[in-house]
Amino acid sequence: MQVRIQDAISGDREAEEAARIIRACVHCGFCNATCPTYRLLGDELDGPRGRIYQIKALLEGGRPTFNIQKHLDRCLTCRACETTCPSGVEYGRLLDIGRGWLESGAPRPLTQRVLRRLLRFWLPHPRRMRPLWNLGRVLRPLLPVSLRVWLDPGENDAHWPGPRHRRRMLVLDGCVQQLAAARINQAAARVFDRLGISLIRVPEAGCCGALSYHLGAHEEGLDFMRRNIDAWWPQVEAGIEAIVVTASGCGVTVKEYGRLLAHDPDYAVKAQAISALTRDPAEILAAEDLGGLKVKPRRVAFQSPCTLQHGQRLNGVTEGVLQSLGFDLVGVEDPHLCCGSAGTYSLLQPKLAGELRDRKLATLEKADPDVIASANIGCMLHLSPASRRPVVHWLELLADQGRETGRSILSPIQR
Ligand code: SF4
Ligand code: SF4
Repeated sequence: MQVRIQDAISGDREAEEAARIIRACVHCGFCNATCPTYRLLGDELDGPRGRIYQIKALLEGGRPTFNIQKHLDRCLTCRACETTCPSGVEYGRLLDIGRGWLESGAPRPLTQRVLRRLLRFWLPHPRRMRPLWNLGRVLRPLLPVSLRVWLDPGENDAHWPGPRHRRRMLVLDGCVQQLAAARINQAAARVFDRLGISLIRVPEAGCCGALSYHLGAHEEGLDFMRRNIDAWWPQVEAGIEAIVVTASGCGVTVKEYGRLLAHDPDYAVKAQAISALTRDPAEILAAEDLGGLKVKPRRVAFQSPCTLQHGQRLNGVTEGVLQSLGFDLVGVEDPHLCCGSAGTYSLLQPKLAGELRDRKLATLEKADPDVIASANIGCMLHLSPASRRPVVHWLELLADQGRETGRSILSPIQR
């Protein structure tokens, strides 16, 4: 696709990057076939090719409008289109650039601005959220299921094994996950401990930066990334083996630190090193001898998050680990389609997110599994309130050593 950058932004780093990405597009439209919003809405402007054209128009001097913003807002950033594209168009990166321009160039209605500001103020900051969370836990029995799933009663820190092994890896606690489901990283720590690996937490690390970045607040997102790099760096210099990220949505972002901070002279090299060390837990387990892990075999429907299969390109890795341990994985139709969670999407686009969730749950529950397993806290929180099956992180299935742990294996509807 031909692009002519308007004079006013010619030479701008992001404009040049966007133009390079757009030039790779041959406007074949294959990507529309796997785009959830195009399939739901049937409008070219709500498919990847149409969104590329709209960003191209901005690049060439078109006015940023609320209408373009609406179509870009509806994108889930699921990146299914990237997996489908035969020309390797980096759509996700292009979308981030386009959203950044619109955020500064097309003022939103006040209600939208306030909501987005509140999300950025609360969600990436566990210290700000904790008092609210603690109050919610007290009131939990009185709250609707949709809120109860966010209020994990929590586990005692005694569930976290001490750092007794020579092999050590860092683990990211993140922001929402450490309040909504601390049990996931605790499960990871117990599984890794049995494999002879100690997982180490660094309390100064926090949100991966994705939430702000994908809401168009790029500098704010980059500051979260710099903070994590500073927090982890002493451990990196001490020879830590890997950085494990149990939420695939955060994992894909940390793996991109190197690219996102490539222009920052103080952080470019460190960011590259951090990204190179980052692993999804399935990547680690796939390379280990799992003979010592005892599990209770179950029929599992695995919901492969978009950030795992399209973002990190790890399609099939977690499934392989679960099957090698004896779990019976049921088939799931259209596994490439997003469940509608997509970070803050389910809060900002509840109607579309709800339709996608219903479609996803119908495919996940069709073969009557015992449990639905995911690899991302956002998907779990989105699916769980409407699911008739327990929705858990797949590491929880490995951590219970074949015993029923009760709470974590029950869906909120059953609680
Ligand atoms: S599949 Fe790729 S090349 Fe074809 S229209 Fe979509 S982004 Fe462009
Ligand atoms: S990222 Fe997902 S929702 Fe957005 S255009 Fe691509 S396939 Fe469609």
